[in-house]
Amino acid sequence: MNCNELRAGQTLVCERCGLELKVVNECTNDSCSVGCTGDMDCCGEPMKLKE
Ligand SMILES: [Zn+2]
Repeated sequence: MNCNELRAGQTLVCERCGLELKVVNECTNDSCSVGCTGDMDCCGEPMKLKE
C-alpha cells in the first residue's frame, strides 16, 4: 500500500496497538511512489485498511 494508492476517507489501522490513520488529503503525485514504496508500518508490521 503506497501513499498514492490511498484515497481520501480511507483509514489505516494497526492491529497490534490500535493506531488508526485517516486519509484527509490524497497523494496526487504519481512519481511519489519512487520514494514511498512499501507498506506503512506500525509496531513492525504493515498497517491494514479498515473496512
Ligand atoms: Zn502499532
